[in-house]
Amino acid sequence: MGTFPTMSTLASNSSAAPLSTGSSAASRMNVSRRVSEMKPSVTVAFMNRAKTMKSQGLDVLGFAAGEPDFDTPRIIKDAAIEALNAGMVKYMPTLGDPETRKVLAEKLVRENGIPTTADHIAISAGGKHSLYVACQCLFDFPAPGEPPQEAILPVPAWVSYAPIIEIAGGKVIELQTTAASDFKITPEQLKKAITPRTRGFFINSPSNPCGTMYSPSELKALAQVIAEAARTTAPNLVVVSDELYEKIVYGGIEHFSIGSVPEIAERTLTINGLSKAYAMTGWRIGYAAGSGVFGKKLIDAMGVLQGQMTTNITSFTYPAIRAAILKTADEVEKMRRAFADRAAAVHARLTRVPGFKCPKPTGAFYAFPDVSAHFGKTSPGGNGTPGRKINSAMDFCEALLAEQYVAFVPGEDFGGCGKNCVRISFACSIDQINKGIDRVETFVAGLK
Ligand code: GLU
Repeated sequence: MGTFPTMSTLASNSSAAPLSTGSSAASRMNVSRRVSEMKPSVTVAFMNRAKTMKSQGLDVLGFAAGEPDFDTPRIIKDAAIEALNAGMVKYMPTLGDPETRKVLAEKLVRENGIPTTADHIAISAGGKHSLYVACQCLFDFPAPGEPPQEAILPVPAWVSYAPIIEIAGGKVIELQTTAASDFKITPEQLKKAITPRTRGFFINSPSNPCGTMYSPSELKALAQVIAEAARTTAPNLVVVSDELYEKIVYGGIEHFSIGSVPEIAERTLTINGLSKAYAMTGWRIGYAAGSGVFGKKLIDAMGVLQGQMTTNITSFTYPAIRAAILKTADEVEKMRRAFADRAAAVHARLTRVPGFKCPKPTGAFYAFPDVSAHFGKTSPGGNGTPGRKINSAMDFCEALLAEQYVAFVPGEDFGGCGKNCVRISFACSIDQINKGIDRVETFVAGLK
């Protein structure tokens, strides 16, 4: 056999050449095309860059991570600690332990009006994982000569939907929105986009990255379009409703679950998780809920896939999930109020930044201003970095991070008019918001 060093030769020979010399045949091998063609997540990339710069001692103000700055409530942590100490450290049923699935199902019935049961719940390693597994169970790769199944996605939308849909074999059909209509689609737009090939309609309210929400009546009108299309053109249509931000609402619009509309309940998969509402991003806990016969089929399929993928999520977190859902209403309300104050503060400041146009956030913890008035200008430079030409949201964010140590997320990968916007996560103190926007004002004042 060729020159590939075995682990034993490497272990016994400390002077062995480093593995990455770049000259071996192995160095020319590639990873799979479907992953090498996948776009890395820009939200994760900017979040990690800001965290790395901070850990190097730089005075970075991070507004990139969609991550509450609060600690996980004590009662949730204690439930996990107790379970760990009590030896709850073994494999568990793949879709979650029955008691926790029941608590989640009862929550969805009680709070969201979704007709679901414990058998219709799949617990996964985060909302992103739930979405990934769901898409793998919904989309097929097209047979030779056949068109792909379509996924309707209103944009701007969170950066991970399109890659997750595409890697499952779906084709994304973007529906364009504008800031003037709070980045929301109309029932007519949805109706026009549905074809016999439509498999999925993805909706996310409150929205990441837009920070806006659909009203209950708007969602009911979209549900009627789905119900009608399902009876006629698109019998296989499934709604995937991402409700991760349901608890973070403060604009006077009530959160509504589209899966509670009886006509489409069975063809709706509701995705949620504990990351945002309970300040548990690092715990990686998400769940999906279906309804009726199809909903059970879909959840069971997710169980098959998760059984070949992750088995169960971390065993001792199940009691913590129950504690979060059942015992933290006061803490959740305290955090919601803090987000409401921050939303007001960030919006008031952003509307005074020259060239920024920003709809008022009503839910989630994002502001999504259009900064395209500054495209074509040159940044002032700062922190030892020379100024640069700003031709895009990416250029804007790169320059702002390098010159002012302020981390926003550029809007291109959210799709549609997002290319003119930057995402500002205000899951941080009002003091940080003020300091950050002071720096943005200095940066904008220096643009030429
Ligand atoms: N969902 C969060 C965000 O949008 C976390 C990072 C990610 O998963 O995209 O920032």
